[in-house]
Amino acid sequence: MSLLHAESLIAGYGDTEILHGVSLRVQEGEITTIIGPNGAGKSTFLKALMGYLVPSSGRVHFDGEDITRLPAHLRVTRGIAFVPQLDNVFPSLSVEENLKMGGYTLDSAVLSVRVQTQFERFPRLAERRRQRVHTMSGGERQMLALARALMTDPRLLLLDEPTAALSPRIAAEVFEKIQEINTQGRTILIVEQNAELSLRASTTGIVLADGKNAFEGPADTILSDEKIREAYLGTAKS
Ligand code: ADP
Repeated sequence: MSLLHAESLIAGYGDTEILHGVSLRVQEGEITTIIGPNGAGKSTFLKALMGYLVPSSGRVHFDGEDITRLPAHLRVTRGIAFVPQLDNVFPSLSVEENLKMGGYTLDSAVLSVRVQTQFERFPRLAERRRQRVHTMSGGERQMLALARALMTDPRLLLLDEPTAALSPRIAAEVFEKIQEINTQGRTILIVEQNAELSLRASTTGIVLADGKNAFEGPADTILSDEKIREAYLGTAKS
């Protein structure tokens, strides 16, 4: 059984329909990447999966439960966490305060264990625990956004462009961390412009175009198929 299953989602903003019946299955334990041109509806789809947008039609199941109309905060308690592309940390707060905000629903004993777990997982954040986040680099902030999402100990992590605006070296470091988090037993769904990097880390790839499913298959197939690469990655094989 898939951990997450979206069936024919139709959603958008006001009267503007952006998703025209998008479906996906995410298998437990895997990393799945959604790619596609700008404006294809990838972020909109993640928002619908997280409950920030209510679809006008279609269904979302998580771990066998129909969560289509479940509010976002209750999806968090079911085990889903979301890292948006922007505004994913509080710049005026310290690293430690950000982590505590990520676990504000936890009781204090669990909260301090989870903060400690993140510091072990992200040693650079431990070194900067009292630093204000606005003084930190883009890569450090992205690591903090991941750590903050992990405070609720999610089974499924939804990541919207985790390497946006990062240098290739830092983007690779972020992906190493994402893979490490995955091997620790978490299922991950990523929307990524950096398709090559993300597909290399993934089992399955999904292509969205114009608010519709355009292709779905093993990430290796997308990476090795010249036609798919030309159509959706905009690059010939390197
Ligand atoms: P992608 O992530 O694939 O680049 P998006 O889901 O961000 O695509 O955007 C899909 C379409 O939805 C775009 O035409 C965009 O302008 C529109 N859109 C995105 N967010 C909003 C919003 N908050 N209100 C209205 N339209 C939006």
